[in-house]
Amino acid sequence: MSFYFYNTYTKKIDEFIPICDNKVSIYSCGPTVYNLAHIGNFRSYIFSDVLRRSLKLAGYDVEHVMNITDVDDKTIKNTCEKNPNPCLDDLRAYTKPFIDDFFADMNILGIDKVEHYPKATETIEPMKEMLNLLLDKEYAYYKDDSVYFSINKFKNYGNLSGIDLSSVKTGLRYNTDEYDKDDIRDFVLWKGEKESEKIAWETSICKGRPGWHLECSAMIRNIFHGTIDIHTGGVDLIFPHHENEIAQSEAAYGEKFVKYWIHCEHLLVDGKKMSKSLGNFYTLRDILDMGFDADAVRYLLLSVHYRQKLNFTLEGLKQTSQTIIRIYNSYNRLADINASNSNEAKEENINEIMSKADIFKKDFLDALKDDLNVSKALSVFHEAIRFTNQFLDEKKNIISSKSKEILTDLFHYMDKLTNILKNSRKITANDKDDIDTELMTLLDKRNEARKSKNYAEADKIRKTLEEKGYKILDSPTGSKLQKINL
Ligand SMILES: [Zn+2]
Repeated sequence: MSFYFYNTYTKKIDEFIPICDNKVSIYSCGPTVYNLAHIGNFRSYIFSDVLRRSLKLAGYDVEHVMNITDVDDKTIKNTCEKNPNPCLDDLRAYTKPFIDDFFADMNILGIDKVEHYPKATETIEPMKEMLNLLLDKEYAYYKDDSVYFSINKFKNYGNLSGIDLSSVKTGLRYNTDEYDKDDIRDFVLWKGEKESEKIAWETSICKGRPGWHLECSAMIRNIFHGTIDIHTGGVDLIFPHHENEIAQSEAAYGEKFVKYWIHCEHLLVDGKKMSKSLGNFYTLRDILDMGFDADAVRYLLLSVHYRQKLNFTLEGLKQTSQTIIRIYNSYNRLADINASNSNEAKEENINEIMSKADIFKKDFLDALKDDLNVSKALSVFHEAIRFTNQFLDEKKNIISSKSKEILTDLFHYMDKLTNILKNSRKITANDKDDIDTELMTLLDKRNEARKSKNYAEADKIRKTLEEKGYKILDSPTGSKLQKINL
């Protein structure tokens, strides 16, 4: 079975057929490094991580690029505020801490490192080459110290975003990197140097700096040299950014730019657009400072289908923390079992366990192939966890080495998407000494009972735990056991 994706360009679910057999080329628009990324940005990066991991799970060889926009209107404006006559070194000094923070946050969120992270300031020559091609082919023109792209000359302009071109007047120009959907004009390819800034590069026609859209197109060309399979980004980038990328690239090289455009929806906080004035604006650090776990943030951000708006709430994050603890408990219980090949263990039907595990794996991957149906894939994961718990209950924790191996492998297979199991011992980080898996299973059962409002059962388990010398500490990040000091 192939992958199927919703392609923004064709506006339908398309079967995914890579250009080159088993190799997949992906470009994801990365951060503009002028502030700390917020959780809305990370939703988009986690979406491209899910895409990448799903393709890799299916055996594709992925070559993935995420750019770093370190020169654009915003980075220049902020550098100018700090330095009256900024030069390129000032710009680099300004963006460096944000670049470092970006990579640190991506790492905390368990986002797979991609193959290339080109910086715009290090890809200037390919941008100039593209600019020259567009000038030679007369798609570009020089006016008022800058170079513009003439959108009327590119007949497919608007195909991606479906914008209404009827009101477009020839020759009206836009000099900023971002603009509204109702304001469709010729966009800037190279911005003429301003006297107050020394952040500029010489080209055949004028001294200045690249426009944001040209940067992405040139970085793609520089690495892939031709049509790429997949281009991703948030839905807010469809127009003008991606529309302009297509226009420049296809005009310059006369070939298809991207086969599949895949866009990720917005993230809302408490049902509203995230904004500083509403007090619902969160960076990753804000959330970690509240005591939440990065894996819970990761799991929550990946658990909603990319074409649905994700409503982020602290309550939802608390619930996700509980979900993760359930996964950890089951995995740790399995890991801690002393598997043996004793007579009891030999009674297991290994083939049955093996075929069950294979079905789980297939269902998991099939869900991802179906336009990245992550919710369905995660429900298969939870079914596999229930199966494992039940099996261990039935076997009273005496299982064969082979069964342990098959089930552990099943967890690892699904974790190639979730990437949280590496931290499965974190839950007992404060109380490592001697909390064993039997106690953790009891805690898990108590939380399940509370969730299904079976308070009598929850209370009974709490008492059992107390008799064993542990009290339960509930917090936003989940429940922990703490030894009662007698
Ligand atoms: Zn881009």
